[in-house]
Amino acid sequence: MDLGLYDERLRGVHLIQGIGLSSNIYVIGRRMVTLIDTGVGNRPNAVWPRLRALGIGPEDLAQVVITHAHHDHVGGIFQILELASPKVFLHPMDARYIAGYLGPNLVRVEDGDVVETEIAPLEVIHTPGHTAGGICLYAKEKRLLFSGDTVFPEGLYGAYQGESGSLEEMVNSLRRLTELDVDILLAGHGEPLFHGGRDHIRLAYKKALRRYESLRR
Ligand SMILES: [Zn+2]
Repeated sequence: MDLGLYDERLRGVHLIQGIGLSSNIYVIGRRMVTLIDTGVGNRPNAVWPRLRALGIGPEDLAQVVITHAHHDHVGGIFQILELASPKVFLHPMDARYIAGYLGPNLVRVEDGDVVETEIAPLEVIHTPGHTAGGICLYAKEKRLLFSGDTVFPEGLYGAYQGESGSLEEMVNSLRRLTELDVDILLAGHGEPLFHGGRDHIRLAYKKALRRYESLRR
């Protein structure tokens, strides 16, 4: 899905939608390609056939950003590393689970770091809550947020019950995201949202906060 056909600001961004429980893969650029997440990597979500359909081969793939180390987002990296050797960006809190497999390709990124891409610089925003090392990626000029499994359209937010999840951290992360100027919201699963992202994030924050307060009573 060529997102540039739907919104001028997304020229050069393709969405490979996850099939079943697999995450979405966002493909940025043509020659120095950046992927955001890699899907689960099972047969219907095999990475290379889907990239090749976009005219992208191993020599074109420069970097991969993993929003968090759950297998439905990171599984495809192993197929990628069989044929290509991109940098793989990950927050240290989540990198610990798979650092051994990534070897020298791993680049640890922290809050405030910037990943350069063909369409825009992406600022790393550390958003723990779904996992301890979850990140979102923010392109300020485009008012664009890649939100992983932290926040989704319609006020949905990621599950916090997992191994390194925390509702309190989720509330704090969502509060931080409400401070950003977001129009386009591209989440780790589901459909893209082209307008009004900030309202959807605010709704998620309110719902998470209400839940947090109800559990503390
Ligand atoms: Zn997840």
